Order: sequence, then C-alpha cells, then structure tokens
Amino acid sequence: MLIEKLLLHVLIVLAPILSYSFFFEKKQVSTSPYLYGTLQSISATLCILFAFYEGDLYWDLRYAPLVLAFLYGGRIAGGMVLGTILIVRAAMGGDAVVFALAGVVLATVIPFFFSKKISGYHAGKRVKAAMLMGVWPSFVQIAILISYTFFYGTADEDFMTTISHVLSFSILQVIGVGTASKLNELVIERALMKQEIEKAEKLNTMGELAASIAHEVRNPLTVVKGFLQLMQQDDKDNNHPYIPLVLSELGRAEVIISDYLNFAKPEFKNLEDFSLSQVLSDVVMLLNALAVKQGVELKSDLKPALFLFTDRNQLKQAFVNIIKNAIEATPSGGTVTVSLALSGDQALITVADTGKGMTEEQLSRIGTLFYTTKDKGTGLGTTVSVRIIESMQGKVSFKSEVGKGTEVTLRLPIVQNVQISL
Ligand code: ADP
Ligand code: MG
Repeated sequence: MLIEKLLLHVLIVLAPILSYSFFFEKKQVSTSPYLYGTLQSISATLCILFAFYEGDLYWDLRYAPLVLAFLYGGRIAGGMVLGTILIVRAAMGGDAVVFALAGVVLATVIPFFFSKKISGYHAGKRVKAAMLMGVWPSFVQIAILISYTFFYGTADEDFMTTISHVLSFSILQVIGVGTASKLNELVIERALMKQEIEKAEKLNTMGELAASIAHEVRNPLTVVKGFLQLMQQDDKDNNHPYIPLVLSELGRAEVIISDYLNFAKPEFKNLEDFSLSQVLSDVVMLLNALAVKQGVELKSDLKPALFLFTDRNQLKQAFVNIIKNAIEATPSGGTVTVSLALSGDQALITVADTGKGMTEEQLSRIGTLFYTTKDKGTGLGTTVSVRIIESMQGKVSFKSEVGKGTEVTLRLPIVQNVQISL
C-alpha cells in the first residue's frame, strides 16, 4: 500500500517536467516562471490529494515540486507552489493542519534563499544541490513529527511506524527531486543544443556567403593591381608617388582574402608523398630574408628523413604562418629555431623563438579568428595554420612565457615505408 503511494508520488513529481518538455517545445531556454509554477502547483496539489494518510498526518512528496519550482522557475514559480500548498493543505484541515502549514513555510526557507545562487551553477552541481535541498524538508518533517507527538502524544509503536514513514518518504523525496532535476537538466540541455545548432547553421550560411563574396572581390582586385603595376612602370617621372603605397595595401587585401578563403575551405588539391624536411628547409630559406631584415637568427635542425602524404602547398602555408609569427615576435638579436624529430608514428616539428612570449590570456585566444595584437595584423595566420594541420589529422600546441619566448609544437602523422622517386 505504502509502496504504491510512493511510486505514484514519484510519477506525480516527474509529470510536470515530462509534460513541459513534451507539450511546450521550447524555443528559448529560459522557462516561463508562470507556466512552470502552474505545472509544479498542479503536481504539488496532486501530491497532497493522493497523500498517504495515517495517524492524522499526510505523507507525500509535496516538497519536491516546491524545491524544483524554486530552483528552475525562480521565486515567482516557487511562490506560486508555496501558495498552492498552503491553500490546499488548509482546505483539507485536520488536527495537524497548523503544524503542516508551519512545516511548509519552514521548508521553503532554504530553497527561497538558495534559488538564485544555485541557478547560476552548472548542470551537474545543480542536480546535487537540488538533492541536498530535498533533504531539508525531511528535517522539517521530523521536527513537525516531534512537535506533533509532543503536543498530542502518540503511542510508542505508532511513533516507530511514523518514523519509518518519514525515513522512506525522505529517501524517496531526495531520489524524486534528484531524478526530476536530472530530467530537467536534460530538457535544458536539449533546448540549448537546439539553439546552438540553429546558430551554427546561420553562421555556416554566413560563412559561405562571405567566402563567395571574398572570391568575387578578389578578381577585380587583381585587375586593379595589374593596371596599377602598369601605371607604375609608365610613371618614370614619379608623378604618382603614392602608387607603391596603393599597391602594398592592395597586396595586403589580397593576402587577407586568400587567407580567409583558405580558412573557410582549406583545399587539398595535390595529395602526394613528399619529404617533410625538404618542405621545412624550403620554408626556412624563404623566410630567411625576413629574419635577416629583423636581425633575427633563423636556425634549423631538420635531420630525420620523414615523409608525409598530403597537400604540400597547404602545409607550406601553415609553416610559413607559424614561423613568420615567431620571427615577428622576436626582437633583433634573438633566435628562432625550427626542428624536426620523430615521435612514435608522428613527425614532431617545433618552432621555438626567444621573443616576447604571450600571457595566459593571449595563449587562450590564439587561434581564434581575427585575434591579433599587431597594427597591421589580420589575425588569420594562426587560425589558418591550425585548421590546415588539423585537417591533416595533426595537432598544434602552444607553450609560451612572457619575455622568454614561445614554442609551437606541431604533430603530423607520417607515412612509413615510402619509396620516393627523387
Ligand atoms: P597576425 O600575425 O596577423 O597578428 P596570427 O593569427 O598569425 O595573426 O597571430 C595572432 C596573434 O598571436 C599575433 O598577433 C600575436 O600576438 C600572437 N602570436 C602568434 N605567434 C606568436 C609568437 N610566436 N610569439 C608571440 N606571440 C605570438
Ligand atoms: Mg601571423
């Protein structure tokens, strides 16, 4: 008999959340406190109406909707449930009505004060907090019981059965609140996920649009650049001294566009086997001029003969971006070292510089689109490189110390047993 009641109550406690997720497909994650309060009030009323009645006391899980309403619907929803419980319980009357009403108010104290704080927690902690709050009404119930027996006096054996009821209801209350709040978290998570997916879809179309615009802009830019170059050749008397400036800015715009296009869609056109150390030494040679200009020594140690199978030009692009950043971060007199090693079945490339380094905050932002600390920076280089390396099943990690320098580690899967025709 008791167990049936208990199970019925668990169902009553879960019902509002089930119906909420079932009937009200939420567009927003935020719950309407009035709707939530109404549903939990109905649940609390059902709890009281189907209470397990014994010895003039009603046993039920009415505190579970109360706790849940305060936690997930805020104080408005909680207040609604509190009001409902008070009215329904008062209407039922009985000897213990005063104790019951006092008990409800007491049980509300903790959820009321913690509702704001707990709603700021993350999901897992919120479930635990809800369960802890479910324990509190049990104390209140025991307190009511003791004061009730104190006032009215009950036989000893009765007291024992009542205690056992309190215990079973307490345990069930905690389980009920825990399950309900877990369920509620799942509903919230689902709504959040839906929102994220919608956002991602929007961003995706935006990205595609931007990519096609960037592509369209590149062509006229190339034409303008070509004619400007012709004008520059004709301009022997230097009537237009600003042409070089215009050309360099146009060049910059071209770089930004092609970087962006590369970011939006890294294209791996020519997949081939090639020697990694060869590609790296090509890049080092290419960037040596920049290093010399900056007064930075560019060292390399590329001994192991490792082979990769991927798009060589994309990989070059990634290395150029990273090594260029290292050179740009290093003051005159510093060094940038590029080294290659074998680690398991991966090639380990490190680019270490003795430059200015990065703070924790900068480190956490590196690799995000458009993050730059340079006046003429684009904030695309690292993002593009990371994307390229990751598309090649590789990994990029950064280690940095302010004032000491930065070490970028790249891992790439290598090809074993290749026969390269050189
Ligand atoms: P950009 O070079 O155009 O600024 P990047 O995406 O290549 O864009 O780099 C983003 C930012 O990361 C740089 O502005 C710089 O602040 C920081 N950064 C990248 N590499 C290093 C490095 N080796 N040392 C210090 N800071 C770096
Ligand atoms: Mg850069």
